[in-house]
Amino acid sequence: MRAIFFTGVGQPLVELEVERPEPGPGCVRLAVHACGVCRTDLHIVDGELGAPKLPLVLGHQIVGRVGALGSSVSRFEVGERVGVPWLGWTCGRCRHCLGGHENLCDHARFTGYDLDGGFAEETVADERYCFPIPEGYPDAQAAPLLCAGLIGYRAYALAGDAARLGLYGFGAAAHILCQVARAEGRRVFAFTRPGDADNQAFARELGAEWAGGSDEEPPEELDAAIIFAPAGDLVPIALSACAKGGSVVCAGIHMSDIPSFPYELLWGERTIRSVANLTRRDGEAFLQRAPAVPVHTAVTVFPLSEAATALEALRFGSARGAVVVSVAPSG
Ligand SMILES: [Zn+2]
Ligand SMILES: [Zn+2]
Repeated sequence: MRAIFFTGVGQPLVELEVERPEPGPGCVRLAVHACGVCRTDLHIVDGELGAPKLPLVLGHQIVGRVGALGSSVSRFEVGERVGVPWLGWTCGRCRHCLGGHENLCDHARFTGYDLDGGFAEETVADERYCFPIPEGYPDAQAAPLLCAGLIGYRAYALAGDAARLGLYGFGAAAHILCQVARAEGRRVFAFTRPGDADNQAFARELGAEWAGGSDEEPPEELDAAIIFAPAGDLVPIALSACAKGGSVVCAGIHMSDIPSFPYELLWGERTIRSVANLTRRDGEAFLQRAPAVPVHTAVTVFPLSEAATALEALRFGSARGAVVVSVAPSG
């Protein structure tokens, strides 16, 4: 099978023909149809996240069909369409797992980081961490639901019942979450890179009542803000846009340093918090919620052989919505 490998920081991605992976006990082998590209993939390629497996197949928003079952697989059958998210394995024994916070597992393994991911014709995954894909979503449109969607949804839940919600960075996650928030009657204020009129228009099309640059003040105070952009200088900016009691949720896995700011910005019981990974419960909840909204994902699709170009499209924000790698069936 063909797969795209990351071999180290500063090295170009390489396409190689390798042996197809065999599913171990409790695992399924998938013929990959599509795999979403996430900001986290860029952080890995740029060396901003610890020590990934090397060489590594990136990609943790995988949609594919089950082609083979390892021993004792019981949830899925050959031919079923399933999704593989970032959370690939947890220990089930540490205090976080036992406390219902498997997203914080001390020994977790992540897809496309500790485990080979979806920039490949085939992949294997532990069936316990896979999700059935809701009907009605074509493969490429379903892929961004698996990280942008469900980690965005976790961030949204942590933002509480904010009536006025600010979204900083209007990419894959925000374009999905904007639709969910509007369906629940929230007022959405979207912040893009300064001067990105096209993305601001896109946010308004999706129901944002105001869209502007991250250097602009919203017309009203916010009750909560979610920061999807990996820029620490947005934290004091978002805090200053929030009303008393408001919360700022940082939804990315990595951010540049947060500059110091006067305590006054935090005063008034404002909070700052991060969101880390996902639980399987988050995934089940969101994949049930998405078709009910219904969430429509806007995707820009690149073939597997152009995975490196897809990553750069995400880096430069040149695509509306989500970037997805499409994998032609290997026959
Ligand atoms: Zn992701
Ligand atoms: Zn654990």
